[in-house]
Amino acid sequence: MSKRTWDDSWHGTGMTSQRTRDRLIQRLYDEGLSDPNVLEVIRRTPRHLFVDEALAHRAYEDTALPIGHNQTISQPYMVGRMTELLLAGGPLDKVMEIGTGSGYQTAVLAQLVERVFSVERIQALQEKAKDRLVELNIRNVVFRWGDGWEGWPALAPYNGIIVTAAATNVPQALLDQLAPGGRLVIPVGAGEVQQLLLIVREDSGFTRHILDAVRFVPLLNGPVV
Ligand code: SAH
Repeated sequence: MSKRTWDDSWHGTGMTSQRTRDRLIQRLYDEGLSDPNVLEVIRRTPRHLFVDEALAHRAYEDTALPIGHNQTISQPYMVGRMTELLLAGGPLDKVMEIGTGSGYQTAVLAQLVERVFSVERIQALQEKAKDRLVELNIRNVVFRWGDGWEGWPALAPYNGIIVTAAATNVPQALLDQLAPGGRLVIPVGAGEVQQLLLIVREDSGFTRHILDAVRFVPLLNGPVV
């Protein structure tokens, strides 16, 4: 067998080939994702580079997968759905993400908005995510190792905020850091199943839309190494 080349690892072969990826895109479309820009970015983002090599053959299934530290890379449908909700109000220049994890959602977002500010509490995960984004030559992301309940106040306000872990309630700091007209997409709930919320900051206050039933890992407290 010939040695895996860089080109193979980027473009993928077999279960990570472009054909396999295209099948995922068709499935996401069938499930209701409709923004062509979002679908195109998911199509060209090599999700298999965001999981361990042993799981790479499953990277284009529409499922969450383990990434260590008891965490998961989000399901592609959910990444697309949340990204569409965030972008539905028009183009965004500053987006804060809470829960970098593998960096996959970060990479998708970074190709659709001007700048991404990504906060993660587990340092080891964030370091790996950083390396992956450098490898993919994605340079419009800055990272903060910290507690997402607090957001990133020094760089606020944000036109969009996306939270990829389930919060027991909407963190006040995130509402405070939302720009006028800004959109917050966040799973909220204490049980295994939560509600996806879209909160829009209007002149008159916050409008809250209750959307899908979803399953996320919990938004925990405080940074850890
Ligand atoms: N979007 C990521 C999903 C990772 S799972 C991906 O697709 O890979 C959720 C992530 O949220 C985990 O990495 C977890 O460590 C992180 N997280 C949980 N609580 C947090 C908090 N309070 N602050 C920042 N990140 C948090």
